[in-house]
Amino acid sequence: MKIGIDLDNTIISYDKVFKIAAKSFDLISDDWSGNKEKLKSCIRQLPDGEKRWQKLQGYVYSEAIENADAFPGVIRFLWRAKNKGHHVFIISHKTEVAHHDSKINLRNPALRWLKEQQLLPESNLGLIKEILFLSTQKEKIKKINELNLDVMIDDLIEIVEHPLLDNNIDTIHFGESVYSTWPSIENYLLKNIDVEDCYALIRQSSLGNPVSCQTCNEGGNSSVWKIELENSSPVTVKYYINDLSHADRRVTEMHANQIMRKYGIENIPNVLHSNKYLEISVFEHINASTVQCMNESKVDFVSNFIEKLKDVGGEYEVDFPLASAACLCGDDIVKQINSRLSNLQQACENNAELSKFINNALLPTADKIIEWSKLNWPSKQHFNLPIEKTYQILTPSDIGAHNMMEDSDGSIFFIDFEYFGFDDPVKTASDFLLHPKNKIDTKLGKIWVGRMKDLFSDTDADFMQRLAVSWPLYGVCWCLIMLNEFRNTDWQRRKLSKELSEEEHSKVKSEQLNKSAVLLQFIECNYKQFPYL
Ligand SMILES: [Mg+2]
Repeated sequence: MKIGIDLDNTIISYDKVFKIAAKSFDLISDDWSGNKEKLKSCIRQLPDGEKRWQKLQGYVYSEAIENADAFPGVIRFLWRAKNKGHHVFIISHKTEVAHHDSKINLRNPALRWLKEQQLLPESNLGLIKEILFLSTQKEKIKKINELNLDVMIDDLIEIVEHPLLDNNIDTIHFGESVYSTWPSIENYLLKNIDVEDCYALIRQSSLGNPVSCQTCNEGGNSSVWKIELENSSPVTVKYYINDLSHADRRVTEMHANQIMRKYGIENIPNVLHSNKYLEISVFEHINASTVQCMNESKVDFVSNFIEKLKDVGGEYEVDFPLASAACLCGDDIVKQINSRLSNLQQACENNAELSKFINNALLPTADKIIEWSKLNWPSKQHFNLPIEKTYQILTPSDIGAHNMMEDSDGSIFFIDFEYFGFDDPVKTASDFLLHPKNKIDTKLGKIWVGRMKDLFSDTDADFMQRLAVSWPLYGVCWCLIMLNEFRNTDWQRRKLSKELSEEEHSKVKSEQLNKSAVLLQFIECNYKQFPYL
């Protein structure tokens, strides 16, 4: 296959750089948020706006380009495409110099960026066949036709829908809903990660000679493989599926593993190798299987693990960012509910059943619970103010049976630290009770809450009350998480990691809607009287 890819805003992501530059030019306030399109319209509305926007663009595409990132997943796409024998051309409509200032060269900085990412044809990786700069859109279309491409990927609708583009060239509008991320394009053009990809990866690394490999995938956020090596212990390879909202699950997980190991936590996988460009990590393989059900002894393993993490974060004063989706006060949980609701808005427009459930059942219940929770929040703490750092713990965030493994001796290992960071232990305690895979009944829930009380109540006097009034709010969050299957972006991600037909997907959606309704009813019946005391 011959694949053409645009450069600016298709391979190179400028959102972050544009924002930093606009702030330094005093064009927006420090707390401004939004994407490049929003920024463009904001600046154009200022006096002399068009000129200021062009000046900013000139700066970003020249000097500031060195701080720009590749879109998550694009380098791995290029690497896999090359290994599968496809030829990739970068075809960019980029003038030699900036429109507003002929002293600013635009192509040389772009070439330097490509060199830095090892993407030039002559670099070690050599992932790109040729890089072509054209001065006008018309010249770009002519080049795409001349190259007789199979597919052209571009963020500009004017290119993918250009009337002069040959009809036999497939086009992908990058950024458009179905192809909003590189993993979704990877899935469409190259299909799921396969045995050949794993062999190519191991051969290029210095880990050994691969003799067999098999998928051991269970999670939706990654593709996981076990690889047997000649004369060496087997390894686990994890391919992360990053997007702009979780831009680097790999780095978080790698640092989390390093810190835990440093402070003596050993029942976690050891990272052997990690690659930024391919968004993969290689772990020592743990010969164990996923825990299927929770019981009292498993609850003890989890609470012992939390106790150790409490020490790592507290006593050793480890520096680490907040956990992904951390909630340090009641208001943070409400914000998450609202953000999850807005992520489902589009799905609601396309699905009457979902819309009916959200509008007639979930929203009225959520409003009642939020009001009640505010009234009953511990008086010494504030619903809108974060709890003190001394009360926060390091937590994997996503803890439960699905992220625990048990070997033949009954030893338990914890895996998956992509969301790791500081958070309120109340969130960890609530999520453990609510995670559908944990299937916690009232009896086990009481044991778990007892353990958490023993761990935290001495130093955090309001822990139990905060837990009782936060738990139903997290319950509403979980009702919404269960509906993620309705979101198109999540569906693309899941399709990539699992292989699910459209028909199976409809079935899954209907099951999830039922599960969400059951949980909502349980929360509604129990929110005033915490059921795990
Ligand atoms: Mg572009």
